[in-house]
Amino acid sequence: MIEFKRVFKEYDNKITAANDFNITIKQGEFVYVVGPSGAGKSTFIKMMYREEKPTSGQIKINKFELGKIRDRDVPFLRREVGVVFQDFKLLPKLTVFENVAYALQVIEKAPAEVKARVERVLNLVGLADKADTFPDELSGGEQQRIAIARAIANKPQILIADEPTGNLDPRTANDIIKIIERINKQGTTIVMATHNSAIVNKYKHRVIEIDDGRVIRDQKRGGYKDES
Ligand code: ADP
Ligand code: ADP
Repeated sequence: MIEFKRVFKEYDNKITAANDFNITIKQGEFVYVVGPSGAGKSTFIKMMYREEKPTSGQIKINKFELGKIRDRDVPFLRREVGVVFQDFKLLPKLTVFENVAYALQVIEKAPAEVKARVERVLNLVGLADKADTFPDELSGGEQQRIAIARAIANKPQILIADEPTGNLDPRTANDIIKIIERINKQGTTIVMATHNSAIVNKYKHRVIEIDDGRVIRDQKRGGYKDES
C-alpha cells in the first residue's frame, strides 16, 4: 500500500513540484501517472522510493513511514519497491545475468538461490537465452526487459516505472506493457508515469493526472485525456 497525506515538495529553486498530494494506492492496483513535462510525475515517483524527500506531509509505503526511516533503512524499503527507468540504467560491463544477479547479491542471497531467481525472472521477460550477453548487444526493448527483470528479482510488492516506454517504438512499447501487465496480474502494484497515450487508452487502469504540481484527476478506469 502507498499512502500520501498532505504531501508538499518544494525544490531549492522554490518550484513546488507536489502541492498537497493526498493519494492512496492499494496493493495490486495498476496506476498510470500522466501529465505534461514538468508537471511533477517524476517527483511523485521519486518520493516513493526516497530518491526525493517531501518538504512536508506523510508518505507511507507498506510498513515504512518515509518521514521516520533512517538513511540506513532505505535499502530495506527498496527491496519492496522495484524501479524501472526510461533509459534502462543497466551496468554496461556486466552481463545480463550479472546485471540481474547484482541486485540480489547486494542483499546476500546464496549463489544457488541467486541463480534460480535470475533464471526465473529472465524467463518471465522472455530473455533466458540472453543471460551471457552484454547490454550493448541488445535492442532497446530487450534492455528494458532486462531492467524489468532486475527490478522484480527481489519480488517487490511495488513496481515503479518512470516512462518505461519513452525510448521505444510503439510495437516494442506494447510488448513491454504486456510484461508489466503480467507482473501486475501476479499481485504486484504498478505505478507507471507515461506519455504513451496509446497504451493508457488500450490497457485501461486508474489514471492520476498531474499538472503544475497538482493532482487534477484521479479516475478509476481513465483514458489518457479526461473525457468524462
Ligand atoms: P515530470 O516528471 O512531470 O516531467 P518533474 O517531477 O521532473 O516533472 O518536475 C516537476 C517540476 O520540478 C519541474 O518544474 C522541474 O523543473 C522541477 N524539478 C524537478 N527536479 C528538480 C530539482 N532537482 N531541483 C529543482 N527543480 C526540480
Ligand atoms: P494482445 O494480443 O495482448 O492484445 P497484440 O500485440 O497482439 O496484444 O496486439 C493486439 C492489438 O493491438 C493488435 O491489433 C495490434 O495491432 C495492436 N497494437 C499493437 N501494438 C500497439 C500499440 N503500440 N498501440 C496500439 N495498438 C497496438
